[in-house]
Parts: sequence; C-alpha cells; structure tokens
Amino acid sequence: MTQYKEEDFLSLSGIQHFEFCRRQWALIHIEMQWDENFRTIEGHLLHKKAHDEYSTEKRGDIIISRGMPIFSRTLGVNGVCDIVEFHRHDDGTEIFGRDGKFKVFPVEYKRGEPKDSDIDILQLAAQAMCLEEMLCCNIEEGSIFYGETRRRTLVKINEHLRNKVKARFKEMHEMYDKRHTPKVKPTKSCNACSLKNLCLPKLCKNKSAKEYIFKNIREGDLT
Ligand code: SF4
Repeated sequence: MTQYKEEDFLSLSGIQHFEFCRRQWALIHIEMQWDENFRTIEGHLLHKKAHDEYSTEKRGDIIISRGMPIFSRTLGVNGVCDIVEFHRHDDGTEIFGRDGKFKVFPVEYKRGEPKDSDIDILQLAAQAMCLEEMLCCNIEEGSIFYGETRRRTLVKINEHLRNKVKARFKEMHEMYDKRHTPKVKPTKSCNACSLKNLCLPKLCKNKSAKEYIFKNIREGDLT
C-alpha cells in the first residue's frame, strides 16, 4: 500500500473541487488561482465559525472537538475537521488522555442545503478515513450540517464511498504529479463556479479567442 510523505500531501478539501470539476481543482490546487465569489465567501464564514481554532468541550457523554487537524498517509492528504464528536460507547475506541471508550463521529459544516451530488459526502467520508487511520478506529457514520436548513444529514460511511474517495485521491495525485490542468469543458456547473471568470468557459464555445473577443466587443460585454 502506498504511503505518502508529508511533503506530498494534497489538501483534503480539494476533493469537493475535484468532484465538481477537475479543471477547477487543477486551477486552484496546481495553478493556485482563486477567485472569491459570494458562495465561497459565505462558505468560509460558516467554516470560520465552526473551527476558528482547535478546541474541545465536554457535553455529558460527548466530547466535541473543533478544528481538529487530520491527515492520512495512505490517501496522501491533510486537512481540518470542522467538528469531531466522541460519543462514549462500550464498543468504541480508546482516546489518549480520556477514560473509557468512544465512537468517533465527524461533522462537516456546509452552506446551502443538501445537494444531489456526492461532493459533500465524499469530503466527509475522506475525513472519516483520516480519523480511522489516526485513531485506529472504525467510523460507520458522520453527518453534514447545512447552513440553510440548519439541520444535520446523516451519512453512512460505506465501502462504495470509501472506494470512491480512494480513487479520487489517486487520480488527484496523478494529475498533480504531472501538473496537468484539464481543458475547459463547459457544463451547467459553470454558472455556480467561483472560477468562471478566470476559466472563461465561453471561450471554448467559440471557434477562437479572437472571435470571442470580437463578439463580446460587439455586444459591449467587455467594459
Ligand atoms: S468555469 Fe466550468 S469548466 Fe471552468 S473551472 Fe469552473 S466548472 Fe470547470
């Protein structure tokens, strides 16, 4: 099994960009382009609230850890968990510095409402897999808290999800090693993409950049 070195770790949260659009991921994580739009700003604010800095608190039989740094050598990624809950349970795992056993339960914060795609679910599953590797435990489920509905969605961390996470990170490492940015392929996702102004998806619908520029000058779009 491949074991990645720390200097080769990719950002875990990149899996959501990668699943949304491989080109978007490459622009952000390989070419380091970033364009804030209101969606990303709103998302950052929600995250900032969830993990300003690492902290823990105890509520009855649950220990809540905020902003916990996580990593996986087998996936070659690192990141931060918004919230990890440790639920006291006889079938759980031992946690350093705490008496008893606990089931580990990651919670990811997201703006908006539950999506049709797997984007958020994959990120949560990746976090669970990191925690399993770090804490030598088994995580069966976690949840995603959505800012718009203010509710948690329970997610089962099943084999299908785990395989998908492994396959995505493998592909990301391969693309990163080749420093490969895929060509533009416009989809309906482009409208909600925070990089659409940098990526210029309209360009590829036109025969050439020259034609695109002339067309937009005629339409008075380029101001
Ligand atoms: S604008 Fe479209 S093709 Fe370009 S990065 Fe965004 S989603 Fe991908």
